[in-house]
Amino acid sequence: MTNFEIQGLDPEILKAVKDLGFETPMPVQERVIPVMLESDRDIIALAQTGTGKTAAFGLPLISAADASRKEVQGLILCPTRELCIQITDDLNDFSKYLPDIHIVPVYGGASIEKQISAIARGVHFIVATPGRMLDLINRRVVNLGQVRTVVLDEADEMLNMGFIDSLNDILKVVPKERRTLLFSATMPDRVANIAEKYMNSPVEIVVGTKNSGSENVRHLCYTVSSKDRYNALKRIVDYNPSIYGIVFCRTKRETGEIAEKLIRDGYNAEALHGDLSQAQRDYVMQKFRLGNIKLLVATDVAARGLDVSNLTHIINYNLPDDIETYNHRSGRTGRAGKTGVSIAIAGLKDKSKLKQIEKNINRQFEHKDVPTGRTICEKQLFSLIERMEHVDVDNTEIDSYLPAIFKKLEWLDKEDLIRRFVSLEFNRFLTYYKDAEDLKAARPEADERKKSSRKDRRSERANDEQKGSRKAEKGYTRLHINAGKKDGVYPNVIIELINQMEYGNSVRIGKIDLMQKEAFFEVRSDQAKMLLNDLKNVFYRGRKVIIKAV
Ligand code: AMP
Repeated sequence: MTNFEIQGLDPEILKAVKDLGFETPMPVQERVIPVMLESDRDIIALAQTGTGKTAAFGLPLISAADASRKEVQGLILCPTRELCIQITDDLNDFSKYLPDIHIVPVYGGASIEKQISAIARGVHFIVATPGRMLDLINRRVVNLGQVRTVVLDEADEMLNMGFIDSLNDILKVVPKERRTLLFSATMPDRVANIAEKYMNSPVEIVVGTKNSGSENVRHLCYTVSSKDRYNALKRIVDYNPSIYGIVFCRTKRETGEIAEKLIRDGYNAEALHGDLSQAQRDYVMQKFRLGNIKLLVATDVAARGLDVSNLTHIINYNLPDDIETYNHRSGRTGRAGKTGVSIAIAGLKDKSKLKQIEKNINRQFEHKDVPTGRTICEKQLFSLIERMEHVDVDNTEIDSYLPAIFKKLEWLDKEDLIRRFVSLEFNRFLTYYKDAEDLKAARPEADERKKSSRKDRRSERANDEQKGSRKAEKGYTRLHINAGKKDGVYPNVIIELINQMEYGNSVRIGKIDLMQKEAFFEVRSDQAKMLLNDLKNVFYRGRKVIIKAV
């Protein structure tokens, strides 16, 4: 199956899907939609958030709805108010061209009277949190006698949040001849028990590996002593100039403290925790969704159901007590086909927890040293330059001011000008990191490294000398480049420099020797001249590199 057309969905829904820009079904949709359209079997789908599961159940559900019957045909239960609203929004998007289909969200913390009157007007689907749904059932203001499908979305979260009794009570009052769909990121015993009790030989669908972290997410670990935790966070943020992410803390208090410190230190951050009023939480979430806040500092509970698909980073300010929570946190980045980074700021005592997490997500952490002041400054500087290169210049607006500005800056030459403009924005980092010490990870491996580092440096130097005096292979010419490993020059960089010249596959590169501050690479002697000529004006990380024959 390659697209939505051949799945047999209602044409009006296909039109809406097209408007949403969905071109091909995501894996969970490819698996769930046909089972829903072609059979009445129950389905268990193990799928993380962000895998497209709302459309997987939502599209066929709406496609099979009978708008002329004004009765509740489907009930979708989910753990949080935010997810409830999100699912309702999605279902409304899917039924955009089916105006007679009505969907209502019901959740706690909002006026029940309004929800009751919305239901009384006639609805086809109710999207509900379990507590509020049960309240409505107990008040006898909703008739579920015609429900044909029940969806349990994020079943593991609903059970984690203690909704087991409400779920049992709700599932008792919906008709027995219904279809039940259960979506869950994980399958702990509690979820398996629910499935066993309420489902009938379900089709089991696993999207990705069960309990495994998304392929799109890199897992990085910085080990620091607890006194350096906050500074490490700042450096990680500074090292990632375009960061848009969530910093997870363990407690409401820590959340408030970290957010406050970040704001005081000039970061675009805000706290989200249970002590805020619903209106305050909505406000913060809205700002975050719009990208007006770059760092949301949150507890797990507060961030549940917050659906933002383009987060670049998840930062675990502390590792969670429950291993599974790491999986949930990191699943919030790398969504909808994008890549993401999940960062653990770990303490020395977290070693065994890290191992358990690795086992759980089926992936290894990449252990990193906290970025040094110098690397952060470099990263920020180049990000600034890049932003400047790509800035939209509104000529019509700015032109009238330019003559006066040019006149005022006449006394500065080009280099001075650049220096000053860059410093204007860059000084904050330069000043802060000027004498900043490295936050060396004090983990045992780092200690080992420290002991042997002097010895290593000596042998590295000897090694470099040996590389420097090496002779070219037969038929090859040895070229020297004035940048090395310290500058980030590795074989891929050398190959990329040559590829920029678009010779196709014709250039043959021989041996590459990398040293700290310089490198050698060999090219076929008959191509050396052409290369030397073409590579006269190449830049790497904003700096001109010089390539010469040895
Ligand atoms: P969900 O797992 O339902 O929260 O979906 C995650 C994100 O993927 C949402 O932003 C959806 O709008 C988006 N999405 C769902 N299905 C598709 C599709 N077939 N193509 C592109 N994006 C999709």
